[in-house]
Amino acid sequence: MNARIPTASSDQGCRPGCGACCIAPSITSPIPGMPEGKPAGVRCVQLDDRNLCRLFGLPERPTVCRAFDYDLSLCGTDNGAALDNITLLETATL
Ligand code: SF4
Ligand code: SF4
Repeated sequence: MNARIPTASSDQGCRPGCGACCIAPSITSPIPGMPEGKPAGVRCVQLDDRNLCRLFGLPERPTVCRAFDYDLSLCGTDNGAALDNITLLETATL
């Protein structure tokens, strides 16, 4: 995952149920169920039907997912904007 990309959490500002940062970016570290990480644009297998992380609060949640917070410049004001912004950032940093 790019170092500037936030991950789903209950941090102030994050929209629970958005999940864009669990779909749009690539993640290079292992994720339970995805030992090679995941490519950009692929939904993390740990993202549930409500777009919440099944591993939230658990030690199995990857460090990279715990390390980032909501960022208005990326997350925008709705989930579609977050997907677009993070996809653009991912593309720009390839
Ligand atoms: S993209 Fe932003 S608002 Fe959406 S889940 Fe991730 S941190 Fe929260
Ligand atoms: S492990 Fe959880 S926080 Fe990390 S990408 Fe997957 S669903 Fe998102």
